[in-house]
Amino acid sequence: MDRTLVCYRCESEYRDDRRVRCDCGEPLWFDVDSSALEDLAGRGERPTGRDGRGPWRYADALPAADPGGIAAAAGNTPLIRSPRLDRVAGCRVYVADEGENPTGSYKDRGSAVAVALALERGADVVGTVSYGNMAMSTAAHAASLDLECVVLVPETVSPGRLELIAQYDPTILRVEGDYGGLYREALELTRSLPISFLLSDDPARVAGYETALFEIHEALAPETPDAIVVPASSGGLASGIWRGLRDLERAGAFAEPPRLYVVQTAASDPITRAFAAGRDDVSPLPADEVGETIARSIGNPNPPSGTRALTAVRRTGGAAISVTDEEIERAQRRFAELGGFCVEPASATTLAGVERLTERGEIDEDETAVLVPTGTGFKELGTGAETEADRAETVARPDLSSRLESLASRR
Ligand SMILES: *Cc1c(COP(=O)(O)O)cnc(C)c1O
Ligand SMILES: [Zn+2]
Repeated sequence: MDRTLVCYRCESEYRDDRRVRCDCGEPLWFDVDSSALEDLAGRGERPTGRDGRGPWRYADALPAADPGGIAAAAGNTPLIRSPRLDRVAGCRVYVADEGENPTGSYKDRGSAVAVALALERGADVVGTVSYGNMAMSTAAHAASLDLECVVLVPETVSPGRLELIAQYDPTILRVEGDYGGLYREALELTRSLPISFLLSDDPARVAGYETALFEIHEALAPETPDAIVVPASSGGLASGIWRGLRDLERAGAFAEPPRLYVVQTAASDPITRAFAAGRDDVSPLPADEVGETIARSIGNPNPPSGTRALTAVRRTGGAAISVTDEEIERAQRRFAELGGFCVEPASATTLAGVERLTERGEIDEDETAVLVPTGTGFKELGTGAETEADRAETVARPDLSSRLESLASRR
């Protein structure tokens, strides 16, 4: 594909494929030739003739080619019908479990494409600004392609986080001072140094995130979901899903396109606030209005693609809503107990969010919602801190048989 970058807002085009933001201030994405997606749009028939593994199945919509390594293991996640979650959600639920990526989050779709593009451009070093899933993902993809990787983390990062990132052996730099300001600084450093920082809404990442929507569409065809529900922080994933909806719509895929809903943590929800206030732009939250949350992967108070995510929900007829830590915790338990899914708190927001949306009548009970739990919960388990373990009873050996018999007769 040709690598023209386009602004969704003012429609400016740029031939310089290293640009990340438009002169108007908004983030750019790669232009996609939607005629290449007509087979996906196939109205009822299964698409044929696509090969390639993981995101590369949609290579004609991506700005880079499969570089090898774990790039082919990204994506290709299952879409699971989950009827036991229907009652909680208040509608028909499908789960697109992004925890099944190589490093346990959808970030791998973006890292696969962004690291591949950096390699095609001759980069020797890639970098990112993250102390969570994006750091792990970028470092893993770089490792599998023998690229150096630099990860900028805040000075106060926890040892547990460092352990997860360090296993892929990147250079980890603890940076003092205002961590939020590093987004801008890293973009500038990419221009002046031989190192490519691949940030949360990098155009190549957003292209990779778009493949999540393509997979959902293929898995459900000829049916179309009514709602797609994703967590949002910087707005990169929401942008990629919206990009996919636009491209498939242009290719003629939908009689009625799905509505996009984004869920934020109430502790830091600039997108929801702008939506609720009817504003067209997301403004940064002042520090004294940002709280603590268990949903550590979300909650960017100054989201670089926030306004684009807001535009996405407006244009598709969706909404932005927020949920509390209490709701998130309950939703996380229900994902496991009623669905068999181990999701991290940031991802549990999708179930908590859809519950509110059906209560408000934004999604009807006979409608189909695809929830996108973005990351696995396994990274945060295993400390033994949970009291749930105390629920396990102890059985004397001679009593085991009768205890099991009484269990079986209860079914
Ligand atoms: C990064 C991340 C998000 C937020 O995605 P954005 O693209 O920043 O909006 C949500 N959930 C998980 C698990 C993540 O790692
Ligand atoms: Zn613009």
